[in-house]
Amino acid sequence: MYLSLWLKSNFNFLSKMKKKLITIAIDGHSSCGKSTMAKSLAKRIGYAYIDTGAMYRAVTLYCLEHDMIKGDEVNKPRLRRHMPKIEITFQVNDEGKSETYLNGKNVEQEIRGMEVSNKVSLVSAIGFVRRAMVAQQQAMGEHKGIVMDGRDIGTVVFPNAELKVFITASAEVRAERRFKELQSKGDTTTTLAEVLENVLERDRIDTTRKESPLRQAEDALLLDNSNLTLEEQDEWLYNEYLKKVK
Ligand code: C5P
Repeated sequence: MYLSLWLKSNFNFLSKMKKKLITIAIDGHSSCGKSTMAKSLAKRIGYAYIDTGAMYRAVTLYCLEHDMIKGDEVNKPRLRRHMPKIEITFQVNDEGKSETYLNGKNVEQEIRGMEVSNKVSLVSAIGFVRRAMVAQQQAMGEHKGIVMDGRDIGTVVFPNAELKVFITASAEVRAERRFKELQSKGDTTTTLAEVLENVLERDRIDTTRKESPLRQAEDALLLDNSNLTLEEQDEWLYNEYLKKVK
């Protein structure tokens, strides 16, 4: 009994060791389920998972907390001076979920709210913010074995990633999903129309900004998941991963 358990666990370990480690870049529009899909694959194949959107959200929260945003204007000189003081880390909680920390404080809840969502695209369009985040992301993925999701992972952060995926879905489907997520977290004030407006506005800013605009890398696989279940999209991604490591 013990011998067979020992053999089984060592077989699993060895077969993992034999598989080559790759970098998986997942980009796409706002609220299209990138993170859910990326997290699920990372867990299944034993890779690290990094949500780069959370990093831009944490910088935005810092700006809001320090009164650096007035309307659509970010106080860039002040933010630039503060950049070295902004430390973003991830920690896995007791349930195995990765949570975002800003200067040692758990901000996972706060960065997902509408206040941050409404300003994040302004902050993420700033060149010096992007350069600081990209440098950290490249360091996190230098040993491969990572699934990273965002807007510029396949185009800027890891242009040589072995597997690149670009995900999209109709704006209405994305807003509906995000609305349900907000409701499940206890937000009873935000309306579906407000969420749709936020999704469309973030798409507009993310795709038209000067610094690393959101676009599909030429060698990225395109997936429209408007009509796919979570299981279907997970299977699709897992199969694409298998093709790359065989
Ligand atoms: O992925 P999520 O929707 O949480 O990202 C929040 C925002 O962060 C996006 O709307 C985009 O403005 C910005 N972002 C980015 N580059 C990334 C990830 C996110 O500009 N790699």
